[in-house]
Amino acid sequence: MTLTSPPRHQRTDDDQPPRRRGVRRLLGGASLVALAGVGVALFSAQLGETTASHTELPVQDTVLAEPSELGTGESGDSPASEADGAENPDGRLQFGTTAFDTEYAGIGKLSPGLRDALQAATRDAQSAGVSVMVNSGWRSVELQEQLLQDAVAEYGSKEEASRWVASPETSLHVSGDAVDVEGNGASDWLATNGASYGLCLTYLNEPWHFEYQAAASTNECAQPYADPTHDSRLRG
Ligand SMILES: [Zn+2]
Repeated sequence: MTLTSPPRHQRTDDDQPPRRRGVRRLLGGASLVALAGVGVALFSAQLGETTASHTELPVQDTVLAEPSELGTGESGDSPASEADGAENPDGRLQFGTTAFDTEYAGIGKLSPGLRDALQAATRDAQSAGVSVMVNSGWRSVELQEQLLQDAVAEYGSKEEASRWVASPETSLHVSGDAVDVEGNGASDWLATNGASYGLCLTYLNEPWHFEYQAAASTNECAQPYADPTHDSRLRG
């Protein structure tokens, strides 16, 4: 894997780097069409998701780059096939990906309960004028390890990094049991409405991170942790 941009964790999540880093890579080598698509998509996202102009799901084709742009393999790899999500075999997702884009590994390898719940929620949110896009879903062990190494470089120690980035052994993303959604519009909508789908906020400091709790739809979500350091599941 080649990573050419420095690690940046603008949000203190184990969970966010793929999109922003991917976008930067797109800007470096993608076609002008893709560049324009990313620019428009980013701009509209930054304007906020509750605006009337943001009621349609973005057209994903406009932001796709060649597999070689995505840093997902060494040079000389054979071309990826769509069937196994190999354009992004490590789980990195392009901006604009939704729960319906199951051809991508980051979506297709989510646990079925989570994926089905997120698809239902995405549909209903869309009816309410809110786009639910997925920044990150399932991740490979290699991608999670890369994110952890990036965080160690940024925070200066493995101990400090571990407050923000789960290990490949414990990450709920690696097991396909967590998604990070894009933007306040989506996270606010899911925080308010997600429980009826079994979609629950897990960490108060990561408002974009949701997991599936089968019992939530009939009861309610478990109390979220203040942050991942309080989550015994992550002490692997
Ligand atoms: Zn997450």
